[in-house]
Amino acid sequence: MHVYSSNQKIIAERIDPETLKSNWKDWKWQTGHSIRDMSTFERLLGIEFPDERRKELEETIALFPLCITPYYLSLIEAGDYDNDPVFMQAFPSVSELIVEDYDMPDPLAEDTDSPVPCITHRYPDRVLFLVSNVCAMYCRHCTRKRKVGDIDSIPDASDIRKAIAYIAAHPQIRDVLLSGGDPLMLPDEYLDWILSELSAIEHVEVIRIGTRVPVVLPYRITDELVDVLRRHHPLYINTHFNHPREITASSKEALKKLADAGIPLGNQTVLLAGVNDCPRIMKSLVHKLVRNRVRPYYLYQCDLSEGLAHFRTPVGKGIEIIESLIGHTSGFAVPTYVIDAPGGAGKIPVMPNYLISWSTNKVVLRNYEGVISTYREPDCYRNVFCDRKCEQCTLQLKLDDADESESVGIAKLLSDYDETILLVPQDNERMDRRDDD
Ligand SMILES: *Cc1c(COP(=O)(O)O)cnc(C)c1O
Repeated sequence: MHVYSSNQKIIAERIDPETLKSNWKDWKWQTGHSIRDMSTFERLLGIEFPDERRKELEETIALFPLCITPYYLSLIEAGDYDNDPVFMQAFPSVSELIVEDYDMPDPLAEDTDSPVPCITHRYPDRVLFLVSNVCAMYCRHCTRKRKVGDIDSIPDASDIRKAIAYIAAHPQIRDVLLSGGDPLMLPDEYLDWILSELSAIEHVEVIRIGTRVPVVLPYRITDELVDVLRRHHPLYINTHFNHPREITASSKEALKKLADAGIPLGNQTVLLAGVNDCPRIMKSLVHKLVRNRVRPYYLYQCDLSEGLAHFRTPVGKGIEIIESLIGHTSGFAVPTYVIDAPGGAGKIPVMPNYLISWSTNKVVLRNYEGVISTYREPDCYRNVFCDRKCEQCTLQLKLDDADESESVGIAKLLSDYDETILLVPQDNERMDRRDDD
């Protein structure tokens, strides 16, 4: 028996008195009754905005549309809505119209690093595959805000086919990350088709799905959908809980179904000012996640997408949060804090410093309590010169052809066999001067 919250009863009653009995847990009913305009929002929540504010909000919605499921709306505490973490993620703010001069429409250069529509190929062995531009709820902090409600960016089946052909033609791709939009908003059969096509590619070893459905529309996790998903192992799911209040009886049930189907679950949280920029909230969130078999994966610094300035915190806030977790709680409950760096530089982890100093045979470390300790390094360590002739090495590595045969980036600077000692940015004036001489 599902016990409905008092908010759910009130909202269901206002939509239609029969709702709770028949429809509330039907995900299609939920999306069919999504709240997309101000007056419905006010009526269902029993609040009324002053005229001036309503006018400003209408302008915001015209640029960045509003869409909230009745379920997610029911998590808002109407009495103090302005400070409510669910309200702030789902409901527009006029601050979204403020564009700072350092904001960018596509800060992660996803469109620039896109060899074919729907694919961003940034890292050597994995791709981001945008399979849908439909979401159950429009997050106000969406990094792909530029695409929300944009009919031109709906991928059609021929785009999807071309993207799959690209993956098939590139044997180095061993990991495909489906995102969007929300991949779980696609019809079961269509998703099944995409997953089957990808699974059939020999070099694709794992598939991942990024979805916010367990948070904003948990009823979408039906037994039928889970039956589709479990046929395509190894399949990982990353979901997107930002606040402990989002973990409810309904979302727990959805997570249980996914975990019981053998799907490893991770979570990506975005650090948001006024929503979760607090060490105690984050600790409560990660604890609730692991209790529901979800492993915190990433904590993201809020991107530089246009209209998100009011959500951003200094990087120091994220470091403070990680400082409050490492050592204080289970290691597997601590996410990696990352900045998805502008210009397509990708996710860069940032951490408090634990290595305080070192000498030729000792490192000095500090722990989470502030205790300073030393680790004595070996006096003789015979480093094996690495010429990357792995077949002759005593370490017995058997390599596939698709593996990177040469190191790149900083790893290249560290390698023995490569003589590179500098990585020089393009258009370096000093280097250009050398060339001119
Ligand atoms: C995040 C991301 C990935 C996956 O990165 P992981 O660190 O492996 O989770 C892949 N491609 C793009 C473009 C991404 O933004």
